[in-house]
Amino acid sequence: MLIFTQKEALKKHLNSSSIQNSIGFVPTMGALHEGHLSLLKASVSENNFTVISIFVNPTQFNNPSDLEKYPRTFDNDVQKIKTVSDQIILFAPDIRDIYGDKMQSETFDFDGLENQMEGKHRLGHFDGVGTIVKKLFEIVNPTNAYFGEKDFQQLQIIKKLVQKQDLKVKIIQVPIFRENNGLAMSSRNERLSISERKDAALIYETLLEVKKRFKNKSVVEIQNSVALVFAKHANFQLEYFEIADEVTLHSCIRKSKNITYRAFIAVYVNEVRLIDTLAL
Ligand code: AMP
Repeated sequence: MLIFTQKEALKKHLNSSSIQNSIGFVPTMGALHEGHLSLLKASVSENNFTVISIFVNPTQFNNPSDLEKYPRTFDNDVQKIKTVSDQIILFAPDIRDIYGDKMQSETFDFDGLENQMEGKHRLGHFDGVGTIVKKLFEIVNPTNAYFGEKDFQQLQIIKKLVQKQDLKVKIIQVPIFRENNGLAMSSRNERLSISERKDAALIYETLLEVKKRFKNKSVVEIQNSVALVFAKHANFQLEYFEIADEVTLHSCIRKSKNITYRAFIAVYVNEVRLIDTLAL
C-alpha cells in the first residue's frame, strides 16, 4: 500500500497515473471503523484509484480538549485499509504540510447552511471543514468524493461548496453504518466505556421513536418527549434535537407536504459528544 505524507509527492504520483482514470477520494480524521470502510468500499468499486486521507484537522475543532482527546490509531488504520484493498493510496500529511505556518480557516458563505445545528453549537466548525476539504480537493483532484450521511449537515455543506466554487468533483453520499445495537459508528465511540456504548443505543432508539410519531404528533410534542427521554438519564445531556428540512436545514415548526424532513440530534454521553440523524 502506498503511503504519502507530503502533498507534492502525492500530486506528482497522481498526475503521472491518473490520465483517463477516475480517482475516488475518502477524506477522514482516522480512528477508522466500519463506517469509514463502507465509504472506502464504495470508492474502490466505482473508481480506478482510491485515495483516503487521514488528517485530524485542527481548524474544525472549536473545543481544544476535543481535539486533544480525538483518538489517533494510525497503525491500526493502515491494517483496516488493507482489508479493503492494498491498492488504496493513503495520504497522511502533518499540519505543516497542509497549513504551512498559517493555520487559519477561510471564511465561507454556505447560504445559511452553516448557521444551523452544528454551526450554532460549534462556532467556526464549518469554516474549518470547508477549508480542509477545499485544500484536499485541490491536492487529490478527485473524480468522486465520498461522504457519510452520519454528518448530514457537513454533507450538504460540501455539496454547497462544490456548487458555489464550481469544483469538478461528484459528491457521493453513503448511508450511516451502525453498531448492532443501532449506535451510529463514530471515532468518538472509542472514548466510551463498554456500559456507555450500551447506553448510547438510546440515541438511535429515540430517533426511531420520533420517526414513528412524526405522522401523528406535532413537532413541539415530539421535541418535548425527546427532551424528557434524555432528562431521565443522568449520563446524557441533550445539546439539541431538531426536525429540519433536509435541503435547507431550516427547523420545522409546522409540517409542510412537499418537504423531506430529517431528525438531527447531538447528545453528550458523559464527556463524549455524539451526533446522529434519521430521515423521517
Ligand atoms: P470523520 O473521520 O469522522 O471525519 O469521518 C470521515 C467520513 O466518514 C465522513 O464523511 C463521515 O460522514 C463518514 N462517516 C463517519 N461515521 C460514519 C458512519 N457511521 N457511517 C457512514 N459514514 C460515516
